[in-house]
This record gives sequence, structure tokens and C-alpha cells, in this order.
Amino acid sequence: MDITAAIYTDADKAREHLEAIHWPNGPLCPHCGNADETRIVKLQGKSTRPGVYKCNECRQPFSVTVGTVFERSHIPLNKWVLASHLLAASKKGMSAHQLHRMLGVTYKTAWFMAHRIREAMKEDVSSSGPLGGEGKTVEADETYIGKRETPRKLARGRIAKPTKSGKSGGAQKRIVVGLVERGGKARMFHLNDATASTVRDVLVRNVSRDTVLYTDSSRLYTRTGEEYASHKTTNHAHGEYVRYEGEEVIHSNTIENVFSVFKRGMIGVYQHCGEAHLHRYLAEFDFRYNRRTALKISDAERAEDLLRMARDKRLTYRRIGEADYA
Ligand SMILES: [Zn+2]
Repeated sequence: MDITAAIYTDADKAREHLEAIHWPNGPLCPHCGNADETRIVKLQGKSTRPGVYKCNECRQPFSVTVGTVFERSHIPLNKWVLASHLLAASKKGMSAHQLHRMLGVTYKTAWFMAHRIREAMKEDVSSSGPLGGEGKTVEADETYIGKRETPRKLARGRIAKPTKSGKSGGAQKRIVVGLVERGGKARMFHLNDATASTVRDVLVRNVSRDTVLYTDSSRLYTRTGEEYASHKTTNHAHGEYVRYEGEEVIHSNTIENVFSVFKRGMIGVYQHCGEAHLHRYLAEFDFRYNRRTALKISDAERAEDLLRMARDKRLTYRRIGEADYA
């Protein structure tokens, strides 16, 4: 990545870059869906910002940022494109402090931009479908990170005790459940409590029932495992991490590795995050893992995917206001 490239330094070039990604066949009206170029006029003139079009079907003006997480921002578009590339390419993420220094914006602005970009990184699970399927293997596991924010309330019993799997953690920690398809994608979720029922909910919504499921021997998975094509476990409490059954290599090391990259990022780069924002950090690490170099995806392709995904996230990104800054 060459950070002196025009798309990172020139707002017009950044806009043209976004236009090429979002409108490969010419401008498209985000208000009514009109894509007929004879019915779209490019507005020009001294009082008009560059990149503004007018739709002759619905009579409304628009630019390429309408309907994206960059909409209505006063930050020059080239800084958004640069921040997106940096977050897409940095393995363990990039702190708001570093973004603030690299982009020449305030820390508060950098923090706010990073959260909007994370919102763009969120995968639309309903359209990408479940993980796994016939002949495929999904590893599931849970992990405990950081500290809960309301230990007193949690101590009254809303949070599950440490699990029977022998892992420590539990009551005072935040719970993350992770799923990964072998050779495929990962999804991590923040849960308020880890019970057989909450974990089942994540599994059945995200993993096809034709899948072979691998977990440790935690009771969280015992009943739900019966709903899958097959369910194999390794007994971590007894020091068993890999087991061979004919050609099958049963382990959950893949999801452990996904957790490990996430934890190293959260400790080394982000230090801590508000519990309310944890789901966005999980989306960030899922995004990069699912476009990892091992899948022959380059930094540039990953960054382009991110800019493409910046669209249609309006409902959620508006909730990240400056008031959320913490
Ligand atoms: Zn229109």
C-alpha cells in the first residue's frame, strides 16, 4: 500500500475511487434505484460540490456517499478511504491514537471514524447464509475476555458460572462464542451469558444442520450437538486437544487461533473497549479473517470489499453518535 497514492490524499480522487466501486455501470440513484444515465444529470457550477448528481425520476440530488457510513461526514473522503485501508490491512487492527496521528484528525474523530468503519465491516449474515453444510466441518468454542462492566449486577446471578469444560474465567468476564468453518469463514458473537440455550441460539442461526460439529466437551454443546449431522468432542479438561478417528482429525485449534488473534489485538492495540462496542471489534476481526491472505486475498482487495460494504449500513451506523465516545 502506497499511502501517498491520490485516493488517500485527494478528496476528488477518493470519490472517483468510490464511484468506480459502487457504480461500475455509471451512477445509480440511491433514492429510487434509477440507473438510466439519460435520466441522471451531473450537477456542475460554482455553488455545487463536485460529485453531486440529480435524478430526473425522483427529482432528488445524490452523491456516491448517500446510503454509506460516510454519508453526511465533514471529514474529507480521502481520509475515510485511507482509514478504511489501514483498518482493512492491519492484522491486529489500528488504535484510534494511531489513526489520529496518521490522518491528522482529532482523537475523538478518529475513534468515531473507526467505529463507523467497523460497522461497514459487519457481514450481513442473513444474505451470506449459514456456515458449514454437507461434508463440511465447523468448530465452535467460547472464550472469556476482559472484565464485565457491572460486576455487582452480574454477581447476582445473571451470568453463567465457569463452564464444566475446565476453563477458568466465567463470571466476571465477557463471553464470546466463536464459530469457524474449516477452510472457510469465522463468526464471533458477544453473549450476555453462556448457557446451553444462548449458545444453541447462536449455533442454529449460523451453522447448517448438515454440518459436522467439533467442540470441546463443555456441556454447553452436548444437547445442541445432537441436532447436527455429527458432533465430535475433545476433552480439554483431560488434556486431550486432538483426537484421530480414521481420516478425521478432531480438534478446535482453528477457532482457538481466531480467538488468539482477536485477543492479541484487543490487548496489544485496543487495550480495552466499552462492552457496548465489543460486537463491532468482533466484526472487525471476523472481516479480516474471512479475507485472510491464506485465501489469496490482497490488502487492496480486502480494502475494496470494505468500501463496497460501507453501503446499506445506515440503520446501525446512525446509532454511533459522538455521544457514544468513551
Ligand atoms: Zn431517483
